[in-house]
Amino acid sequence: MDRLPAAVRDAIEAQRMSGGDPLAMFIYDLDALRQHIERVMAALPAGVELYYAIKANSEAPILATLAPWVDGFEISSGGEIERVHDCPTPKRFVFSGPGKLDSDLRAAMRHDVEAIHVESLNEIERLQRLAREAGRMQAVFIRINPQLPPSLSTRLAMAGTPTPFGIDESDLAQAVRQVDAASHLRLQGFHVHAMSHQQQVERHERLLDAYLQRWPQWKALSAQPQSITHLNVGGGIGVDYLSDDQFDWQRLCRHLGRRLAEIDDAPLVRFEPGRFITAFCGYYAIEVLDMKASHGTHFLVCRGGTHQFRLPVAQGHDHPVIHLPQRPVAADAPRRRWTVVGQLCTPKDVLSRDRPLAGIAVGDVLALPLAGAYGYNISHADFLCHPRPTQLFLPAGTSQGPSVRSH
Ligand SMILES: *Cc1c(COP(=O)(O)O)cnc(C)c1O
Repeated sequence: MDRLPAAVRDAIEAQRMSGGDPLAMFIYDLDALRQHIERVMAALPAGVELYYAIKANSEAPILATLAPWVDGFEISSGGEIERVHDCPTPKRFVFSGPGKLDSDLRAAMRHDVEAIHVESLNEIERLQRLAREAGRMQAVFIRINPQLPPSLSTRLAMAGTPTPFGIDESDLAQAVRQVDAASHLRLQGFHVHAMSHQQQVERHERLLDAYLQRWPQWKALSAQPQSITHLNVGGGIGVDYLSDDQFDWQRLCRHLGRRLAEIDDAPLVRFEPGRFITAFCGYYAIEVLDMKASHGTHFLVCRGGTHQFRLPVAQGHDHPVIHLPQRPVAADAPRRRWTVVGQLCTPKDVLSRDRPLAGIAVGDVLALPLAGAYGYNISHADFLCHPRPTQLFLPAGTSQGPSVRSH
């Protein structure tokens, strides 16, 4: 975790040397992203697809890098339809999310959405009306909020517990009847996105097992079970922000492959992870503006802050920090524990507490890794009217220069 790719380090240095105000910027290593998605896709067993959930990071260069590899995109708003539409590689997309607007559903159908994940009985009725108006037979997945054993839950649960997502399993029979009866809807599959932050591969294996066990019962609720072919098992693969011990994706895929081979009438399985795809390629780099001690705690006040990178405070963790000193730090320089904060006038603007760092000086840069998913885009960037940070996308090849997006 304390390693920084040379290209990222060079880009930070170039930005620092370019003059102007101290830096706060995001850097995305598209080469690393491409290598990662290549490995993720190569591990998928036969009959299993992967759609990228673009809400994790929908910046154009990210989608353009992923598009040649993934089977499709998963979106959750009208704005995200635009993002997919602007992607240079045309991709299939599916549409989930609570509270879909009529205008979003119409736009999705206009852009030939592959499937819509219906999240309530009302939405089924509404979509039937809109599909009929559009003269379109629309494929749908019913998103289920199933009964799950508490042992399978994580700290950000979307199912197995009261949530606004999906259709309670006790209403599933009615939902299936309603779709069956709708002249312009075709039930293509079921969808369960039960949680985020899954860090334990063994638990996720049991979760997939639980879905596959329910699959024949869910299908049997329909008058035409043979036309129901897909099981979307959602995303939720976690990232360990505090250690290098990452989720064993290869193992999950091997397990799923074995299970599918044992089942007659196995569904086509579709994953739709977000975080696990883009977290690793992103870095948030900030320059140290000031240093001080207050009531026994040592603070590094940095350019930027949680209004640009809300992730650590949103998740309640102390983000790892890589120190990029301007001058070499002596090997025997003492370490001190520093609390890394930003420029906001609130005590909540903390990126990391008690980081042991040696030889820190004003003007040094701190790089926060694992910032590629739910980083900038979940942040309240306009708070205090600070300028928006530069986002730098280091290209996958080395032939072109980096593309900069400044807000
Ligand atoms: C957010 C979301 C995902 C992706 O979740 P991650 O935890 O980022 O993998 C997938 N599907 C749906 C329906 C979502 O809302």
